[in-house]
Amino acid sequence: MEITAEEGVLGPLLLARGAIDRSAAHRGDAEWLRRTWADPATRVVVVDDGRALVRRRGGEVGLVLLSSAEAPEGERYLLGLDADGTAYFAVAAPLAETARGGLAAGALALPGAVALPEGEPVAAGLRQAGALLADLDAGLLVHAVALEAWHSTHEFCPRCGSRTETRAGGHMRICPGDGSQHFPRVDPAVIMLVHDEADRCLLARGPQWPQGRMSVLAGFVEPGESLEHAVIREVAEEVGVSVVAPRYLGSQPWPFPRSLMLGFFARATSTELVPDAEEIAEARWFSRTELRAALESGELRLPPSVSIARRLIETWYGEELAGDW
Ligand SMILES: [Zn+2]
Repeated sequence: MEITAEEGVLGPLLLARGAIDRSAAHRGDAEWLRRTWADPATRVVVVDDGRALVRRRGGEVGLVLLSSAEAPEGERYLLGLDADGTAYFAVAAPLAETARGGLAAGALALPGAVALPEGEPVAAGLRQAGALLADLDAGLLVHAVALEAWHSTHEFCPRCGSRTETRAGGHMRICPGDGSQHFPRVDPAVIMLVHDEADRCLLARGPQWPQGRMSVLAGFVEPGESLEHAVIREVAEEVGVSVVAPRYLGSQPWPFPRSLMLGFFARATSTELVPDAEEIAEARWFSRTELRAALESGELRLPPSVSIARRLIETWYGEELAGDW
């Protein structure tokens, strides 16, 4: 597949898919939520610490979706309605309960996409299943995982410390002590492919990463800062390179636990690399020829296909590249 950056579009990103109406207008309607939950057609995905059950059927990998009668007890989040009017909820509960004893303990880990056995439910997170699921299921899982991660770490009011309560179909928490409302948090992060005058791209390795694993630079947007400023600042901080003209190409959620990755190209006006030892173990410029040679020799491995980093690198390169972490 040919990949281009024409018109500033990265193309479909695997975690930025979704095929449902999020139905925000229904979130505050307790009667609608009650009735819809009770509808036998309603589908429920159980989410547990970022994972849900997936199953391969006839070669297709899909979420294991339950009726509300089959679903375990747990906090409920309205995910939305599909084109046929079917409602989807997530329930935060242990996956072992979902399987109702019918799931072997050994199956609660995904050994690898290729090894996913036909018919058997297996617990998987977005990193494992994100690239395998169709648009509807991928969108449901990203939304469910992101909400679960927020609720699990925002039980108490930041003003008074009271235990907060879930409202709005899981899209708000409210404090019974002072009435303050709290909404799911998303942390914007810029991720940028830096290229130089010779059209080489800059890749770097984090201090915790094994030798050979490299990616583009990224960092969180700070309070009071624009996205463009964050791109320029992060590149300067991490590798000492000056960049100009950050160009926005696309975004995707990265709910590990709550980032939104905003992808850019940025042109370097200097090439000397001065890595910040705390954030960068190694940084290097690659021509296309050097990149392909390093991948073919096994010297270099790129981030996985679910990442926007991978798409930025392939967009710069001009086509899909083989191999990942
Ligand atoms: Zn409070």
